[in-house]
This record gives sequence, structure tokens and C-alpha cells, in this order.
Amino acid sequence: MTSAIGAHTRHFDLIVIGAGPAGAAAAQTAAASGLRVALVDKRQFPRAKLCGGGITGRAIGHYQRIFQGRLPDIPLVRCQEVAFFAFGEDLGLTKGVPPLYLGMRYALDAALVRQALASGAQDFTGQNGTLDPENGALDLNGTRLVAPLIIAADGVNSPTAKLLFGQAFDRDKIGFALEVEHPEPDPSAPLRIDFGAAKWGYGWRFPKAAGMTVGLGGVMSRNSDMKAALASYLDRLNLPSNLPVKGQFLPFGDFRNVPGRGRVLLAGDAAGLVDPITGEGIGHALHSGELAALAVIQALSTNQPTRALQLYCAGLRPIHKALRHARLLRNIMFRERLRPAFVRSFRSSRTLRGEYFRMMSGETEYGPLMRHMATRLPGFVLRVLREN
Ligand SMILES: Cc1cc2nc3c(=O)[nH]c(=O)nc-3n(C[C@H](O)[C@H](O)[C@H](O)COP(=O)(O)OP(=O)(O)OC[C@H]3O[C@@H](n4cnc5c(N)ncnc54)[C@H](O)[C@@H]3O)c2cc1C
Repeated sequence: MTSAIGAHTRHFDLIVIGAGPAGAAAAQTAAASGLRVALVDKRQFPRAKLCGGGITGRAIGHYQRIFQGRLPDIPLVRCQEVAFFAFGEDLGLTKGVPPLYLGMRYALDAALVRQALASGAQDFTGQNGTLDPENGALDLNGTRLVAPLIIAADGVNSPTAKLLFGQAFDRDKIGFALEVEHPEPDPSAPLRIDFGAAKWGYGWRFPKAAGMTVGLGGVMSRNSDMKAALASYLDRLNLPSNLPVKGQFLPFGDFRNVPGRGRVLLAGDAAGLVDPITGEGIGHALHSGELAALAVIQALSTNQPTRALQLYCAGLRPIHKALRHARLLRNIMFRERLRPAFVRSFRSSRTLRGEYFRMMSGETEYGPLMRHMATRLPGFVLRVLREN
């Protein structure tokens, strides 16, 4: 079919914009259920994505449900030991934690896209488009894609969120992270987390199959010189300071209660779904992509596309609740007056550390973790926790 402006028009049930974990999960879920899906990304895969590549048990659980595989078919390092530091203090090595997997995002994302395409999504990667949200249309070079519903999973700088809301995120609330890739693996260096290496954030050293990813991230408004913080962190880890540094916004600590408008649903980073304490975004990206696609499937099955956003919001409630809890807990962990109590509790309580890892593995939520903290922290914190 040729439209009035000369573009070739192709009709789908769903257009997914952005083919990172959120978009690939959405495309996979919708295509596997029989919907006609266009999967669009401005980049061709494999493409680089700045990320620690830490894949928690929670994220693996989402992967297994959505993509029906045991583990993504990419080189992964499996870790069950973590060295914790907080504000420069060594909190010791925690052994036997639920497995964390570490991989490179260019490989992970390419594998997810391959799986979504194999499930029937149509490949429009490597193409940039102009969105017409009112008419459910995306104009690519000479081709107009049209669908009753659109899932935009176009990342932290989401052009779609900008189009709908004027800005992708609130700069005063968002995080920022810097990272370097060290090309040599060090088998003697365990996975390491340094709370406070950036203000209201943490530093990480993640072992990879072919090197190490080292970085730090925190609330942007509290870190006036993140580069200096990274330099001193690299120095503390005895790593060279001349590795190329890359940075990106981290959408944590803030999210849209209604992520989308009309026929457009936002998922993953575009919806602000990064955990404000762990900085983890892959798991919520996968899950929210799936939830958005399930809302689309349900709305289209009753021929009511306008209900999709409302259904999606209902599905997202548990994720939003977890992010609210994490934001509250972050206020306690990083507030200067409470810091000593937090450090003491984290160092001395195996139960607290155990709850932290059970939470990352998807076995529990922030609620039980907060209750454990509450029993160990000063009275007014208890009141804050009880009130929320
Ligand atoms: C330094 C750093 C370290 C991190 N470490 C971790 C970690 O260890 N573990 C973890 O779980 N999370 C981590 N995160 C967070 C994680 O990277 C994100 O939460 C996750 O990538 C979100 O997935 P997504 O699919 O929403 O977005 P993305 O993975 O960013 O994918 C968005 C896609 O949209 C595409 N796109 C953008 N604009 C357009 C457009 N106009 N048209 C078409 N396509 C478009 C992009 O090309 C991209 O492929 C880290 C983040 C940073 C910055």
C-alpha cells in the first residue's frame, strides 16, 4: 500500500521502538502470542551499551519465563562471592550468595533480539524513525509502520518520553554513572561493591570473561565531580587511570506513575525503572517489556486498544512498590547521621546481607529487608519505615 505522502505503509498489531532488554522482551512476548510485531531500533545489533552487565537471579528468572531458555547463550561469569566495602571500610567477603551472572551487553542484547526475531517479530533494526503518536505511526526511511499500539523502550534518553512529556527525566532526581573496561581479567579479584564510592551510590568491579568492568554511579545532583570520584576509585583498586571513561544517565529514584499516554506505553529505562540502590535495570526492563506486551495482547483481544495503558499500569504496581521501598531505604543508607548504624548492621548481620542477596535473586522483596534494617537502626528510622 502507498500512502498520500508516497511512503510504503505496513500494518502491524504492535510497534516496539528500542530493542534493548525491555524492547526485546516486549517483542518476544507479543510475537510468541501471535501478534504481528515490528521491532525497531536506530542501531544495528550487536551494538555497544554502557552497563556493568550484572545479571541478577531476578533478571535470569524473567529471562527464563519470557524467552524460555535456561541462560542467555553468551559468555557469562557466574559469581557467588562478593566483597563489600562501605565508605572506605572493608565489610568482608560474603560467600555462598545466590548466583550473579556477569556478561557483556553487546552480546546479551544481540542474543535477545535474535530470539525475538526467531519468534516472529519483524526486523527494523538499524533504522531511525519519526513517531506520530496520535496516529500510531512510525515513519522510517520511505516506509510508514502503523499499529493500534506502540511500546517505546528507547532507553534512558527516550525520545518518545520527550515527545510525550517534554523531557525524558528530571535532572534533579536522576543518577549518573561512569565506567571503564579493563581488558585483563584478574582471577584473584572477586566481584566488589563499594557503597559510597560515589555520593548516594556505589562503585563496582565486575569480573568478566575477558576483563573487568569497573565503574561508579550515584545521584547526579549530589556528585559535582564524578570523574574525580572515579579516578580515586580506580586508584583504590590499583587500576590504571588512563582507561577510556564513558558515562550515561541512570534513571533511578524517579519514575512515571503513568508511563505512557494514549496508545503509547513506555518500558524499561524509558519508564525510569532502575533500582535506586542496586542500580539494576536489566531485570525490570525485561519484566516491564513483558508486562507492556501482555497489556497490549489483552487490550487487543477485546478490541479495546485504549485500555492497554491502564492494564499496563496495574501490572507495573509491584515494580513501582519495590522502587518506592528502595528509594526510602536509600534515604536511610546514605544519610550521614545514619551511616554508622547502617555500616555496623551490614557488617555484623549475616541475616541482613542474606536478605539483600535474596532480594537480588528475586526470592524476596525490599519489604523483609527493610524490616530487618528496622530492628537494627535508631528509633526515628523505625518510625519512618513504619509510616511508609
Ligand atoms: C554505567 C551503567 C552500568 C549499569 N550496570 C547495570 C548492571 O550491572 N546491571 C543491571 O541490571 N543494570 C545496569 N545498568 C542499567 C541498565 O543498563 C539499564 O537499566 C537497561 O539497559 C535498560 O534496558 P532498556 O531496554 O530499557 O534500555 P536500553 O538497553 O538502553 O535500550 C534502549 C534501546 O533503544 C534504542 N533507541 C534509542 N533511541 C531510539 C530511537 N529514536 N529509535 C529507535 N531506537 C532507539 C537504543 O539504540 C537501544 O538499543 C547500568 C547502567 C549504566 C549507565
